[in-house]
Amino acid sequence: MLYKKRQPPKQLKGLHALVRRLPASHEKYRFIQEELYNHRAGYGGEQEYDRCMQEVRTDFPHAILNDLSLLHDSVRFQMDSVFIAPDRIVISEVKNVADRIIVKGSPLQFLKETPAGTRTVFRSPAAELERKIHFFESWLAARGIAVPVTGLITFAHNNEIVIEEAPSMPVLSNYEAPSYFRELQIGQPVLSAPEIRALADELLVCHFEYNPFPLAARYGIAAADLKQGMLCGSCTADAVLAASGSKWRCTHCGKETRAPYTQTIEEYFMLAGETLTNRDFCTFTGLTCRHVAKRALQNPILRKMGTRKAAAYTLAE
Ligand SMILES: [Zn+2]
Repeated sequence: MLYKKRQPPKQLKGLHALVRRLPASHEKYRFIQEELYNHRAGYGGEQEYDRCMQEVRTDFPHAILNDLSLLHDSVRFQMDSVFIAPDRIVISEVKNVADRIIVKGSPLQFLKETPAGTRTVFRSPAAELERKIHFFESWLAARGIAVPVTGLITFAHNNEIVIEEAPSMPVLSNYEAPSYFRELQIGQPVLSAPEIRALADELLVCHFEYNPFPLAARYGIAAADLKQGMLCGSCTADAVLAASGSKWRCTHCGKETRAPYTQTIEEYFMLAGETLTNRDFCTFTGLTCRHVAKRALQNPILRKMGTRKAAAYTLAE
């Protein structure tokens, strides 16, 4: 049974906004575009995994939690998918990478091969999984739960995988994951059906969503380098809106709208800062009238702190 659905990652939404706000001449522009590409591919692979796993039916009780982030001993670890069975927990690491993938065993190694035949080793999903298994086992032990934790590596369908030597950890395509779980040979049960449900509930309570914002600071970009103005909510062009009477017009798609203040406030918090003042808002939007800005900031998504000149806003939870 599915206990936790995957949500679109905040970082991906933020990267979309960052690419629109970062001038193409910026030294980090290409890097941010690659980040966007990689995060989009990663999320695409995870969505494919979820679609495949929808068809999993097992003779034994189980719980599935997708995209789970836990904190243990001040260490945060994120798991793409967690499958709780009566005798074990399986953490899945879902990958979606370009190029051909070559898997070598003992020690487990992952290489990417370009069409020209150049091979490079990439960060091993097995090493990432071993780290997560270690922390998850500690998290469980702290709650008196002694259930073995294992790992499964899956690759998206479009990835060509060549297994040269049998790896120590299963490496499958997303499409093979359902039969892998269906055919698990369940040994001596450690968790009963109610205990599986209780553990899934506890994990839901302990999950905390990773907040990567503001992205400018995260990527070492000065907030002042971001493009000023308001962007269209109807298209993805990076052209800023032009005032057109009491409305704003997109110079790319021609759509006229009221000022997209809410969208712009959201962009500010994704990209530029953790608090917002009237002056910050004027700078970010290019508005010249602080009274217009003040009205725009009377927005239900904001919480006001301080008064008058010292007023600042944060996002209301
Ligand atoms: Zn537009």
